[in-house]
Order: sequence, then structure tokens, then C-alpha cells
Amino acid sequence: MSKTWYPVISYENCTECLACFNKCKNGVFTLKNSCPVVVNPEGCVQGCHGCGNLCPVGAIEYVGDDTGWVPPGKKNAESESSCCEAGKINCCEG
Ligand code: SF4
Ligand code: SF4
Repeated sequence: MSKTWYPVISYENCTECLACFNKCKNGVFTLKNSCPVVVNPEGCVQGCHGCGNLCPVGAIEYVGDDTGWVPPGKKNAESESSCCEAGKINCCEG
């Protein structure tokens, strides 16, 4: 495969909110059991961070990305885990 830019989902963090699936109009994702799966990396636009910018937990990164971009949602995931580890607030309950 010659494609050098496409998203990769970390299923460890994915909450299946489908923001990425709904954002992309290029058929890069499909759904399998309510879970977004990259099936058409060729459709991804070089340099696009569209889906990754919307992911609330920073679960999307890009093959070939050397831009220094950091998933915006990653901060949410990190702050949630650190506050829970510190036992400051009950953000993980529910
Ligand atoms: S980076 Fe852009 S083109 Fe590529 S899958 Fe995400 S929204 Fe679609
Ligand atoms: S936007 Fe992020 S959390 Fe939502 S379905 Fe896509 S990868 Fe999962």
C-alpha cells in the first residue's frame, strides 16, 4: 500500500461516539458492531486532521504525521485519568 497518511484508532480509548465516522465524507471509516473501523485509507486526505480534531478522547493518530499535531482530546483522557488516580473528584463513577 502506497498510502502514507491515514488515521489509526486506539480501541483502548475509543468510546464509540462515532464523531470520526460522522465527520469523514470520504468513506474512510465503516462501522462494525457500532465501532468505527478504517477500511479505506486511500480515501483519507493528506494532512487532514478532521476526525482526530473531533475525537473527544484523543484516540486517533495518523500514520505519516510528522507535523507535531497532538490529538486535542488526549488532554481530556489524560486529565480524567490523573484526577481519578489522585482521587480528587469522582469523575470515573457512573
Ligand atoms: S483525516 Fe480527514 S479525510 Fe482522513 S479519515 Fe479523518 S476526516 Fe476523513
Ligand atoms: S471520535 Fe474517537 S472516540 Fe469517537 S468513535 Fe471515533 S475514535 Fe472513537
